[in-house]
Amino acid sequence: MTNEEKLQKHYSYFDQFLRRAKREFEIKFSQEIKQNCLLIDFDIMKVLGAGSFGLVVLCKDKRDSKTYAMKLMEKCNIIKTRQLAHTGAEIKLMKNINFPFIVDMHGFFMDNVYVGIVMSFANAGDMFTHLRELKKFEEGLAKFYAAQVILAFEYIHHLGVIYRDLKPENILVDLQGYLRITDLGFCKKIDNTRTYTLCGTPEYLAPEIILSQGYNKSVDYWSYGVLVYEMNAGYAPFFAKDPMRLYEKIVSGKYSCPPFFSKQLKDLLGNMLIVDRSKRYGLLKNGVKDIKSHDWFKNTDFDQILSKKVIPSYVPKVDNETDTRYFESSSKKLVVKKASTDEFAKEFDDIFVTPKA
Ligand code: ATP
Ligand code: MG
Repeated sequence: MTNEEKLQKHYSYFDQFLRRAKREFEIKFSQEIKQNCLLIDFDIMKVLGAGSFGLVVLCKDKRDSKTYAMKLMEKCNIIKTRQLAHTGAEIKLMKNINFPFIVDMHGFFMDNVYVGIVMSFANAGDMFTHLRELKKFEEGLAKFYAAQVILAFEYIHHLGVIYRDLKPENILVDLQGYLRITDLGFCKKIDNTRTYTLCGTPEYLAPEIILSQGYNKSVDYWSYGVLVYEMNAGYAPFFAKDPMRLYEKIVSGKYSCPPFFSKQLKDLLGNMLIVDRSKRYGLLKNGVKDIKSHDWFKNTDFDQILSKKVIPSYVPKVDNETDTRYFESSSKKLVVKKASTDEFAKEFDDIFVTPKA
């Protein structure tokens, strides 16, 4: 089969898969969600990572002896940082999203102090750690990762959801060397509308967010361009110590590529990191197919990657399910807090009510 035939076969299979996924998602999304575990169901083993909104810990479910990662967010912090709606959306979306390259949710709970999300544990740490260790990824590895991210984006966008927080820290690597996107904290179901919230990470912000223009999945395609650049170069295309200077650079859309970038890679980036959204790949008539059929992906077999049949050129060394060597640097300790009453019960009663845009 030629590359072109393989791609056509992939399109017909994946389009069908997406249509089915959307039907199932719409049914599940309208259903009420209930907590299905308690903090005391788990033995907490160690802190894996600290995000802006809470700690992520390694834990064992006493009921099935399986290992999971648990994101623990204090209710008072969620309220203080006005993240109630984002946290509600994170849980609701995580519960209903089901894709090989996105972290899946095993359960969630709320007690008097915490909101906890229990998810599959991606043993090999985040992409940020590997990128710093390897300095940059060789082009084949970057392409292998980029193929998984574009498939994941195609899937969530088809569900009417935008991601808004792509960056190496939010992309985890599993035992087999495949990716798992985590942190759906800024995901939003927008369908065909626009949104205005300023969120994301400075180096990955799209110009339209900085310029306070209404936006949609366009911001994910921009950040995809930033990620592809960073994986190949080892640093982001736009950077500056001073945030205002950084934003100026982003809205100017001017960046330069290192000399070792291939012609195809430069061409793809030139079509992604475009300030003018009417010209940005992913948003044109052919949608995401402009990216998947680009010359840079010429030898990429998307179906083989989707079914995890491609052997990655880099498989992090992990001994077993609970090996946490890629998380060693975390010095934070979790002291589990308890409270006899729930100060924010009223607010959290409405956590799954979608606020008006
Ligand atoms: P931020 O807003 O700063 O990005 P956050 O508070 O929303 O962070 P997460 O990004 O969800 O938190 O998680 C923080 C870190 O915990 C990740 O960067 C990663 O290192 C680790 N982590 C998260 N989920 C998992 C998981 N399922 N398996 C292993 N490690 C994880
Ligand atoms: Mg994060």
